[in-house]
Amino acid sequence: MKLYNTLTRNVEELKPLHAPEVTVYTCGPTVYDYLHVGNWFTYVREDTLIRTLLASGFKPKWVMNITDVGHLVSDADDGEDKLEKGARREGKTAWDVAKFYTAYFEKGLERLNIVQPDHLPRATEHIAEQIELIKKLEEKGYTYTISDGVYYDTSKFPSYADLARLDLDEQEAGKRVQFNTEKRNVGDFALWKFSPADRKRDMEWDSPWTPPGAPEGSRKGFPGWHIECSAMSMKYLGETLDIHAGGIDHLPVHHTNEIAQSEAATGKQFSRHWMHSNHITIDGEKISKSLGNGITLEDIEAKGISLEAFRLHVLESHYRSQSKFSWDSLQAAQNRLKSWQAFADLRFQALNTDDYTGPDYMAYLGDVQRALHDDLNTPRALAIISGAEAGSVQEPITNGEIENFNAFLEYIDDVLGLRLLVSKDVDDEIKQLIAHREAARTAKDWAKSDELRDQLAKQGIGLRDTSHGAVWYRL
Ligand SMILES: [Zn+2]
Repeated sequence: MKLYNTLTRNVEELKPLHAPEVTVYTCGPTVYDYLHVGNWFTYVREDTLIRTLLASGFKPKWVMNITDVGHLVSDADDGEDKLEKGARREGKTAWDVAKFYTAYFEKGLERLNIVQPDHLPRATEHIAEQIELIKKLEEKGYTYTISDGVYYDTSKFPSYADLARLDLDEQEAGKRVQFNTEKRNVGDFALWKFSPADRKRDMEWDSPWTPPGAPEGSRKGFPGWHIECSAMSMKYLGETLDIHAGGIDHLPVHHTNEIAQSEAATGKQFSRHWMHSNHITIDGEKISKSLGNGITLEDIEAKGISLEAFRLHVLESHYRSQSKFSWDSLQAAQNRLKSWQAFADLRFQALNTDDYTGPDYMAYLGDVQRALHDDLNTPRALAIISGAEAGSVQEPITNGEIENFNAFLEYIDDVLGLRLLVSKDVDDEIKQLIAHREAARTAKDWAKSDELRDQLAKQGIGLRDTSHGAVWYRL
């Protein structure tokens, strides 16, 4: 299986350290607000990676963190903690906000048919691990303490700019006016932040650190955002990951900092493979709450569009391409899904003969697999499935091909999670109505035939007449 690696900027064969096990760490949500479709695009794409690994005989071990503390509004380590901000907005404590949106997120994973990660660790439940890791960095001389926290000295880590191919000189020259002048280098970032002297935070902990000049143990604090991913990935997946994934927004700061912390602490490569999901735009704009285009899963359902259709819409673009969300393409995806569901319902309607002259569904399965193994080429996989669906209209499925046909559908559901196989066969009453209509048609009793067709339509069943008899589908 081949996957693009941001580290090398090449599509590479995936070679896990301990195959068939593949350790995968993906950056999860900051749970301070409702997630928008842009967030879910990333998670569905990561789910497609996990599903493809599973269907290829790998044993992925997947950890996705939940950031419930310490994610500051700006990347410059100042501004408010997103959780505290959410708490202020909603008149709740940061703990309550985190609890509410964590549950919302977990429910969303389930509703979107995203494979359950092996662990969904919360940052607040791993404070000790984060403190340990910062202590390790401190012992090795990578940190310094200033008035608002403990910082990582990026000048001590020579390969700091490698992953994102950053131009550090340019960054240094372009320092913003508000740059924290106590920091040694523009890229230095907080590992631990001190609570303000004059205010108690909802979430704060004791630590071995205090601001210079303050009495020891006099100030509580909280971890910086980046350290949780290093600490929790090491705890659950070991010091070197096979794949680390996340949104491309994370590349220049968050992932760059994760590597710096982890590799400085362990002396080992942090992740062998980096996978980044590209930006999603709406009407050419970035999706964000502040722009008022933060569409949620609930907004989609309120328009009568299913979450499976949303999944299909996500899969229509390659994860590395800049993709657009639009209501029109979502509606088109809903229509496409409907015809795929009708296609899947053909499994109940195989002709009772072993003769079969149509396309080979195992060959289609192989084609879809090849597309996914080629850097998760979902648009190509979808085109192959639509081709197969078109073929089924020309050549009916028979008992001679039904096993292959079912295997093809199962594979699609396994890798794309579209729930095509949840539908049931129609009941006997419907079958009888269809048989009566066939009889009326044969007898050229058109009035009766039309009446029965209407009756079926009222029960949500449509009919397509073919040279081999009527094929039913759900309206
Ligand atoms: Zn992360």
